[in-house]
Amino acid sequence: MAPLKLEDPKTKYPQPPFKSQSQPWPGLAGKMDPAPDHGEKSYKGSGRLLGRKALITGGDSGMGRAAAIAYAREGADVAINYLPAEEQDAQEVVALIKAAGRKAVAIPGDLRDETFCKQLVEKAVAGLGGLDIVVNNAGRQQTHASILDITTEQFDWTMKTNIYAPFWIIRAALPHLQPGSCIIGTTSEQATDPTPDLYDYAQTKAATTNYVRSLAKQLAPKGIRVNGVAPGPIWTPLQVSGGATQEKLMQFGGQTPMGRPGQPVELAGIYVQLAASDGSYATGQVYGSSGGAGMP
Ligand code: NAD
Ligand code: MG
Repeated sequence: MAPLKLEDPKTKYPQPPFKSQSQPWPGLAGKMDPAPDHGEKSYKGSGRLLGRKALITGGDSGMGRAAAIAYAREGADVAINYLPAEEQDAQEVVALIKAAGRKAVAIPGDLRDETFCKQLVEKAVAGLGGLDIVVNNAGRQQTHASILDITTEQFDWTMKTNIYAPFWIIRAALPHLQPGSCIIGTTSEQATDPTPDLYDYAQTKAATTNYVRSLAKQLAPKGIRVNGVAPGPIWTPLQVSGGATQEKLMQFGGQTPMGRPGQPVELAGIYVQLAASDGSYATGQVYGSSGGAGMP
């Protein structure tokens, strides 16, 4: 094997300024400029998840897509959930999972609905022939300068997506999870260092970090691990479909010591590490990736 080339993390990926751009929510990765890197061309597996069966919400784009590609290339069959409006992104992921020689199950639907969350788990179990990795990654983030701009409907939307859906999914999944299985939540540096324009979103991430820690204690005796991933600013559709102001977007990631946003692929290895059985002593942990600023 040839030695790997050293890469300077500062200049490895695009830096601000970025072009002003916005898409109707939930946005498509395929329409972002520059295109996010989910590891399509770069992620190499080494059998770390051979035979595993994973369900990933928000698996069409962003961190969920990076995790889906990496899981498949590590040998897992993967079910992804996404919104019907994201079919185009989702089909690209399905093709990538299949190209890795694994089974892909596409399950569109809105996670704000409890009945759908239950069906999602049942469809994933049926499609994959079991379930042992659950990644609660889907999220709703909309920037609002003032708490006065957040309607009860918007607040409820954020809570339903970010807090209720993982609760419903975990409850439905638990009876299927054998010892050695794991649950992963995508939280955020916002959990501990919230920005003023994300009043509702940031508190859902504090809740996510908290459920990771409580559930880890509850499920360790059953041999099920629960961990979280806390990204900093990552170049994903969520940011260009209402998650950030245009001013923030054009300088996105520029405030970090690294001077640029992260790309979804840079977190793929964390999702793999937290799911792989060689990481078996890690539970109740939150692993960060934020370019040098922010805390997990
Ligand atoms: P993304 O837009 O690529 O992924 C979010 C996904 O959530 C969407 O693809 C969509 O499929 C799903 N989703 C949203 N509402 C849904 C609903 N009602 N029903 C079903 N699916 C729904 O963006 P991303 O940044 O990769 O987001 C993934 C996770 O990362 C989110 O939990 C987000 O809060 C978190 N996060 C992102 C950043 C960042 O800077 N991008 C930073 C910290 C945490
Ligand atoms: Mg998406």
